[in-house]
Amino acid sequence: MFSYRHAFHAGNHADVLKHITLMATLRHLMLKETGIHLIDTHAGAGLYRLDGDYAEKGGEAQDGIVKLMAAMRPTEGQPAESTPAIDDYLDLVADFNPSGSLRVYPGSPFVMHRLMREASRDRLKLFELHPTDGKTLSGNVAQLEAGRSITVAREDGFEGLRPMLPPPPGAGGSRRALVLIDPSYEIKSDYHRVSACIQESIKRFPTGCYLVWYPVIPRPEAHDLPRRLRTLSQQAQRPWLHATLAIGQRPDMEINERPGLTASGMFVINPPHTLKATLQASLPLLLKVLGRGRGQAQSVESGG
Ligand code: SAM
Repeated sequence: MFSYRHAFHAGNHADVLKHITLMATLRHLMLKETGIHLIDTHAGAGLYRLDGDYAEKGGEAQDGIVKLMAAMRPTEGQPAESTPAIDDYLDLVADFNPSGSLRVYPGSPFVMHRLMREASRDRLKLFELHPTDGKTLSGNVAQLEAGRSITVAREDGFEGLRPMLPPPPGAGGSRRALVLIDPSYEIKSDYHRVSACIQESIKRFPTGCYLVWYPVIPRPEAHDLPRRLRTLSQQAQRPWLHATLAIGQRPDMEINERPGLTASGMFVINPPHTLKATLQASLPLLLKVLGRGRGQAQSVESGG
């Protein structure tokens, strides 16, 4: 356990899908006045250096945010076609890189923080179990001087979520929460823990908005997870949305080379009604830029 460090993967195609989906969801939820509880059960370190040792080893951002930014915000020539949701995401990443060159990638805690409203109406709770990343996260969050509106717990996020649901009522009495569940799946039991956590969470708080990221890999548990989440949503009579992005294999891959992660999915329970159209417009354009070869595909389906 604990060999996973998100710094190797920050800004890759999976982060692009995850963070665009997260932002589009949050933008919609933020249209309503009442404050909202944002919970990130697997927060990571918060900020990542794209020019650091970790990132350079895998260079995964090259086939993610770096390629996307270069295509959609070129220094010369015509930009590739975009959508408001992709632009919103690129603007946010660009804000972390005022010099113009991509050096820093904001993880989910910083994506969420940027979208929170003034006057402490919203609360952000972050869980991170890795001792080093937990410490880095606490340090990064301290710099925000956000006071009580953001808290970091170096605890198990699955366990920590339970007592937070249902969230306390905001002004006007309504209870609102968005939960991002983004494990590293380095241990097989994470798949089961995600579905058990969703099952219990929608029982405790049926109207919460739950976003689950998962890797699309040839492993039975990974195939089963979105099916299981769909069944749980249907049983609880909650609407759901399932989006996948597969960038395909690199055409120059050697025969014995491992392809790395080429595809991932986001499963959203109680998605905003606008999310499907937003992703249906955005994913084909993302694939046009990020698609590499055999196996590239995208999909958005919903129900409930
Ligand atoms: N959500 C982050 C983002 O989008 O920027 C990335 C998170 S990364 C995929 C998963 C993180 O979960 C890792 O930093 C790992 O150390 C942490 N982790 C693993 N098991 C955990 C658990 N049970 N509770 C909390 N954090 C955990």
